[in-house]
Formats: sequence, C-alpha cells, structure tokens
Amino acid sequence: MDSPAAPATPALSKSAQKRAERKERLAATKLERRAKEKAAKKEKKRIKAEKRAAGELDSADEAERERNKKKPKLEFGGRVLIDLGFDDKMLDKEINSLCSQLAYTYSANRQASFPFSLICSSLNGRTRDRLEANSDAAYKRWVNTEWWEEGYERLWSGDVLSVEPGAESGNVPENSSPETSATADPAQSVKQSIVYLTADSEEELTELRPNETYIIGGIVDRNRYKNLCLGKAKESDIRTAALPIGRYLENLPTRKVLTVNQVFEIMLKWVETRDWETSLYAVIPKRKFLSGGKNGEKEGSTVVTEEDALAQSEVAIESEA
Ligand code: SAH
Repeated sequence: MDSPAAPATPALSKSAQKRAERKERLAATKLERRAKEKAAKKEKKRIKAEKRAAGELDSADEAERERNKKKPKLEFGGRVLIDLGFDDKMLDKEINSLCSQLAYTYSANRQASFPFSLICSSLNGRTRDRLEANSDAAYKRWVNTEWWEEGYERLWSGDVLSVEPGAESGNVPENSSPETSATADPAQSVKQSIVYLTADSEEELTELRPNETYIIGGIVDRNRYKNLCLGKAKESDIRTAALPIGRYLENLPTRKVLTVNQVFEIMLKWVETRDWETSLYAVIPKRKFLSGGKNGEKEGSTVVTEEDALAQSEVAIESEA
C-alpha cells in the first residue's frame, strides 16, 4: 500500500503570504510592544504627578481629575481575611474541602458587584500543597487576593499598618469612631478595626463597615473544635461576632456553623442589599430551614452545614483554572 499522502498545503497567494508573515511578526513582538506602552503610560502619569506637585496643572487637567474623583467606585472597601492557621487540625479530606471552599469564595468575590479585598494568611502545610497541586497552582493567579505565609498578626505589625481597608477605595468610613482613629498605639488602633467572625461569639454582627477587616476561620472540622476561633481571637485581643442568624431566621438555632464560602457569600450579599434576612436566605440552602429542628436535636442547639461543602465535589477548583 502507498504511504499516506502528506496533507496538501494549499499554496498561498502572495498577499496572503505577506499577511501571514506580518501576523507572525506582530505576534512575536507583542509582549515587547505591550511593555513599551505600559512604560509610556507610567511616564505620562509620573509627569502629570510632578506637574501637579509643582502646581503646574492647567484647568482642563484639574477638571478631569475632579471628574474621576466623583466616579462611583464599585468597591465596598472592606477587607476579608481567611485565617489558614489550622492546617494541622484537619484530616486530608477536610483540607481538600477547605481548598474547594476557598475556590468558591474566590469565585463569588470575582462575580460580586462589590467585592472585598481578600487576604489568606498562614498559608502552609497540606493546604498549600493542595492549592499548588490544583490546576497548576491557579490560586497564585487569583486577582485581588493576597497570600501571606505569616499569620494575621501581620495586620497590625510592620508595613501593612499603613494600608488601612477602605483607604484606596475613596470611601469615607461612615462609622469610624473617634477612638478608632485616635488611639495612641497604632497596633491597638488597627486591632480595633478587626472582627473575627465565629458562630461561638456572644456578639452579633449588625452591619459591615468599609473600614473594618473581617476574619473567617479557614477550617473544616465538622464541629469538632467548638470555641477554637473564639479562643484564638480572644488571645489576640481582637473582637468577635457571629452572623445574626437567630435574629432573622426563626427556624434556626442561634449557633449555626456555616462554611467559609457561605459566610463570605452572605457578607457579599449584605454589602449589595444591606439586608441580613435577604442575604441569609440567599445563601443558606432552603432545605436547612425545613430540617433545622431535626439536625438541631442531633447536635444540641447547633446545625452544622459543613457536610454540604464536603459533599460538594472538588470540581470548584478545577473550574477555576
Ligand atoms: N470550629 C470552627 C468552625 C469553623 S467554620 C470555629 O471555631 O469557628 C468556618 C468559619 O466560618 C468559622 O471559623 C467562622 O469564621 C465562620 N463562621 C461559620 N459560621 C459562622 C456564624 N454563624 N457566624 C459567624 N461566622 C461563622
């Protein structure tokens, strides 16, 4: 039998050939051109800033600046930190589940009208390994998300002190109390702007504020460790609060442990609607209301929904790639 014929390459016309060559040239220099454009833009910005500092801007420039200032920013300004400092407290499958919850969290934030700045602190151990293994370490490419090896103490120690939440969004914090901004000890004043969220807190969250940082415990423990995050927050001398579940959802017990992404999604929804009832109902699965009493009996006054997350497959992370 004859060897299979080589695939016929249709002969290109002269102009088509030229077009192809040009396309190739452009593709080869694309990165370089982009870098040049970026540098030119930066230089333009720098010159403008210099002029502004020297008071040399003309009125047209000033008018443009004013216009930009007034543009509403689609940012809430608040910050959410996920505390990943519980790596050694989880089983392997719980680590996997946590990583899925992180992916759901990121995905919800990316789709939100008013996203939070996201920080994940204490990245280490099996959690890091798992994230590295998923979709070619896709987590490293998540936008608007910082990964810290250090614990959340970094919020009030060192260089991060200057980056207060809400500062870059142009939001004037409506509720900044005088004592928050005027405390002599800067670390103490930052601590006052931090709230560790936990179902075990006596305090109830009434509202979210753009100038505050909310910590969510990055742990899946199926209710093994009651008061774990509460204790940690107390030790760090930071405030705690629970979502106002009992107040708004009559059929549920006050202490209801949700997953990381559920808590985060409720917060996103609150920023959008400023209404806890709507936000809670939007995120907590309906069947949980119907079966709330039964589960409550099993777990004392607690309903645990972490199983929901465990039941969810690991596709979340894959779909994030
Ligand atoms: N045993 C853990 C529970 C982990 S649930 C603990 O000690 O908190 C994962 C995280 O979601 C919690 O750490 C908490 O930050 C948040 N969370 C879950 N349910 C919550 C609720 N009802 N109110 C506030 N935060 C909650």
